[in-house]
Amino acid sequence: HCGNHHYSKKCRDYLIKKYGFLEVFLTTSCTTALEMGVLLCNIKPGDEVILPSYTFSSTANAFVLRGGIPVFCEINKATMNIDPQKIEALITDKTKLIMPIDYAGIPCDINKIKKIADKYKIPILQDSAQSFHSFHDTNEVCGAVPSLATYSFHETKNINCGEGGALIINDPALIERAHFLQEKGTDRSLVLKGLKNKYSWVDIGSSFLLSDILAAMLFDQIKNAEKTNKLRSIVTKAYYELFSPYSE
Ligand SMILES: *Cc1c(COP(=O)(O)O)cnc(C)c1O
Repeated sequence: HCGNHHYSKKCRDYLIKKYGFLEVFLTTSCTTALEMGVLLCNIKPGDEVILPSYTFSSTANAFVLRGGIPVFCEINKATMNIDPQKIEALITDKTKLIMPIDYAGIPCDINKIKKIADKYKIPILQDSAQSFHSFHDTNEVCGAVPSLATYSFHETKNINCGEGGALIINDPALIERAHFLQEKGTDRSLVLKGLKNKYSWVDIGSSFLLSDILAAMLFDQIKNAEKTNKLRSIVTKAYYELFSPYSE
């Protein structure tokens, strides 16, 4: 099956109910989820995007593909995430987006970042590729705070379906267009909802949909995220205890 069928809907409904997101789009990867997010933010050639100096290529490629210019912000060595205190000095009237990441399950300081972003009315697209089911100090899950966030379900991540991703949308104003972007720039979603007879080309876009076959695998993975994380913690602790006597 193609995207947005039975299992994709089950994943979407589960994620919304469990984590309190407004809307969820399953994508072919986190890379394409980031590209969708950048399209929603209307990044144009010459626009500046602030991102941490330490991240994966996809965070930058997503807007470099649209002509955006990377502005690297120093990281905090304790967390390896963007240092919120270094962001404000990098903001110019060309800054159109801030893209923090959550490194290896360690959440960035999203509430501090959001305060700065809100002051200058700049949107945030949080790359939470490595941090599904990680929580901020405030108990919000990574991805629940900014208007846009992404996850990766690539085989190298804790929760995976081989290749896959998700775009989380928490701003109602961005949802309708996201349907067009995900479905090759067409309003096919309106036909599926019974609001139109025939669909047509209404916007730019691409084929950003995760196959329902992979969504079936993903559904089992996300339901077991808590259990999987607990098991991983036990294994990590065992390795730590086994090897720490040799650290000298
Ligand atoms: C893994 C990763 C990605 C890319 O994820 P894919 O699903 O493989 O596209 C993007 N950003 C970060 C920070 C990652 O760790």
